[in-house]
Amino acid sequence: MRLIAANWKMHKTVSETQEYISKFLKFVEHPESREILLCPPFTSLYVAGKLLEGTGVKLGAQNCFYEKEGAFTGEISLPMLKEIGCSYVIVGHSERRHIFGESDETINRKLVACLEEGIRPILCVGEKLEDREAGMTFKVVETQIRLALSGIEEHIDRIDIAYEPVWAIGTGVPATPEDAVAVHRFIKELIKDLNPKSEGKTRILYGGSVKPGNASEFMKHSEIEGLLVGGASLDPESFAKIVYSF
Ligand code: PEP
Repeated sequence: MRLIAANWKMHKTVSETQEYISKFLKFVEHPESREILLCPPFTSLYVAGKLLEGTGVKLGAQNCFYEKEGAFTGEISLPMLKEIGCSYVIVGHSERRHIFGESDETINRKLVACLEEGIRPILCVGEKLEDREAGMTFKVVETQIRLALSGIEEHIDRIDIAYEPVWAIGTGVPATPEDAVAVHRFIKELIKDLNPKSEGKTRILYGGSVKPGNASEFMKHSEIEGLLVGGASLDPESFAKIVYSF
């Protein structure tokens, strides 16, 4: 089933979250026909989890730490997220990599921890503009995936991957669906190579300036098995239009 995920980033207080969810749920029908996922900031997860209970809309976090507990000031563990109803975590988002300096090794440890905890990670990968201009898109994406999945290849079926070109995130300039499809095909081949049994189980999502006006252009390609939406997910009606764009 295709997955449409909202990444709210650092937006919305608890009261704004309550208001959003009560509006958004009015648009939700046939939640069994597609997987719908909301990823609010940490402070809103608990209340969002309560409001989404029994609706079929899933809850995810935007980040996690890989240790279960301990002296890690400011971090949030996977058991904490699981207890409040998170079934997904976004791992290695480009803002984590490029603003907060998250390394491929850290991302790998977070994926290992997600698998141990039984939370499904969405691993984000994608090239910067200079990589694309240097013809390095496939190489960069391949390196990020190989390092992130190092040692956990046999569990790739329990991970989804979001291809998010860095130059398309939050810029209003999406990749063309054709360029996205080419990278998605490449990722599919790569993960088949890493683990033939994962075929058909790891979804490849596209992310980067998806809007209600362009979502169906992406979703008409079978290689695009879902979307990760930032800015356009902040308005419940706009996100619902994307969810029902196919
Ligand atoms: C994102 O944050 O993952 C993202 C794709 O952002 P936007 O949709 O705003 O480009």
